[in-house]
Formats: sequence, C-alpha cells, structure tokens
Amino acid sequence: MNTLHHGYWTFFVSRKQKHTGWFIIGSILPDIVYYVMFLYLCISRNAFQVIDDPDPLKSLFGIVHDLFEHPVVSILRQAGHSIFIWIVIFTVVLVWKGLKLTKMSALMYGWLGHIVVDLLTHVEDAVPLFYPVSSYIFRSRVSYWNDEYYADIFSLINMLLIVLSLVYLIVKKFRKKRSFTKSS
Ligand SMILES: [Zn+2]
Repeated sequence: MNTLHHGYWTFFVSRKQKHTGWFIIGSILPDIVYYVMFLYLCISRNAFQVIDDPDPLKSLFGIVHDLFEHPVVSILRQAGHSIFIWIVIFTVVLVWKGLKLTKMSALMYGWLGHIVVDLLTHVEDAVPLFYPVSSYIFRSRVSYWNDEYYADIFSLINMLLIVLSLVYLIVKKFRKKRSFTKSS
C-alpha cells in the first residue's frame, strides 16, 4: 500500500487510542527510506537543475528506478518489512517497557500494521518475510499497484472506503458539535 494510505488507515484505527501520532509514525517508518534516498539522489545528481537537462522527466524516472536498486534502500526496505526484525525489536521494547501502551509500543504496533498490510498488497515486489534469517517470500494474490494482480479493483475499493470513512468522521464530528451546543 502507498505510504499516505498506510498513515491514513492507521490514524483511523488508532484515533481513539493514546499516542495516535506514534502509531502513525510507526506506520510510515518502513517507507521513509524511499523519500530520504529520493531526495538524496536528486540532490547528488543535480536533478533540480532542469534547465540544462534535455529530458528532465527521463532523469526523474531514472532516479526512481535506481532508487530501488540502491543497496542502502534495498537493505532498509527488507529490514523495515521483516516480521523477524519487528519481533526482535518488539521483544526488546516489551522487556524494557512492559505491556502497557507507550509511545514506543504505539510506534511498534503502527509498524506491525504496515508489515501486515504490505504482506497482503504486494506480489512480484514482496520482500522476504523473515529477512535476514530466511529468504521465504509470501506473495499475495493482490497488488496495490500492479493491474495484473487486481490493483484496479483494490484501488477502487480502497478509495471508496477512504471516502466513506472520511464522511463517517465528519458526520460524527458535526453531530458531536451539535449535541454539545444544544446541551450548553
Ligand atoms: Zn511498505
């Protein structure tokens, strides 16, 4: 799933919990490397100087292509989407902080949500589930971006649910406001 949608759904699910912001940070954490490295590649290749570039769009696509081939991105992408690495870090958090919901555990739950959702929405670009101890890859039947694997249907349902959930949130907020002004 794309990073923005990870963040939105995590907000929706955790909005009544404490530390919602930390849930959201955890849910976008595994993808942050793409944005940081994209900026880095743009700057290091002077990609913002489009004046001398005969085909700036082609250069941009080149950067996106090279981004996923970059060793740093490759390692952090696999690490960030590994349930094994999540379990190791979560165990440390459990021992250190206990079971109660803290900023740190909220971040961990957000991160777990990202791993699970990506597990269900990646096919050809799925990463090893237990990286780096096993090369086993779980491939879903559905891809969030590749139309060969129902991406068109997935996007439609996802967008529909986002709109419905937004309407729900807005209506609820509006009602709350009205009942508040009535009682006061
Ligand atoms: Zn991801």
